[in-house]
Amino acid sequence: ECYVNPISGEMEGTLRGHLVGLRDRTEEERIDELKNEFVSIISHEIRTPLSSIVGFIEILATRAVTEEKRAKYIETIHKESLRLSNLINDFLDLQRLDSGRQEFHFQSLDAVLLLREIVEQWQGKDNHEAELHAAAEPIFVQGDEDRLKQVFHNLISNAIKYSPGATKIDIYVETDNGKVLIKIQDYGLGIPADALDKLFTRFYRVDNSDRRKIGGTGLGLSIVKEIIEAHHGKVVVDTELGKGSIFIVQLVEIDAE
Ligand code: ADP
Repeated sequence: ECYVNPISGEMEGTLRGHLVGLRDRTEEERIDELKNEFVSIISHEIRTPLSSIVGFIEILATRAVTEEKRAKYIETIHKESLRLSNLINDFLDLQRLDSGRQEFHFQSLDAVLLLREIVEQWQGKDNHEAELHAAAEPIFVQGDEDRLKQVFHNLISNAIKYSPGATKIDIYVETDNGKVLIKIQDYGLGIPADALDKLFTRFYRVDNSDRRKIGGTGLGLSIVKEIIEAHHGKVVVDTELGKGSIFIVQLVEIDAE
């Protein structure tokens, strides 16, 4: 009593209820597969810095090394510990966002003021100059202040990280037909076209010789995307390899309180 629908290719008929059950189980398996993949990536990401930390501590504890080497090993231990701690924080943030356990405290915020505060914090860091371009009047959005700060710190941190030769970062706050556009522009490495569809995927990192030495977890942009989507907004990128990138966050403009 059951047949294959020639158009959808799916089984139909009186056994349908049962088949739906089968399809559900496949979905469950798919989720399990994703989880396993996630666990194996995360354990690799943890094991690598951890084995370097353990290795260098063992050397320091058991061998006589020159002062110069000692300083270098300690610097590596410090760097790898920070990497682990960032990874765990990013990972927990994503877990909270994914499971819906992240609470958002929405309130009306002046986007210009928010960006001004953030840009001030980045001023002069790592020899970079961040400049804000915004009108004097406030532009209001409905947002969670801490989470939006996290988004823009992430994007500015990337803009600086992936611009090894350039020193300038431009930040724009604009309105367009009821939308608020916040643009973070850098003049750095840019992003290859074939990476664009994977860019906001967790753990994805562009891998080429230019950036192999630049540290990161590949989780930052997926966190950005989830937070902005929870604000009913969008994040897009306009980029050219070797010239730089503009990350554009689009939020909904609201009237003043
Ligand atoms: P991470 O920086 O930790 O690797 P992200 O999720 O923040 O992870 O970014 C993913 C990848 O996108 C990075 O590895 C990098 O190759 C690329 N990327 C992100 N922002 C920029 C940027 N402003 N310029 C060039 N490449 C970028």
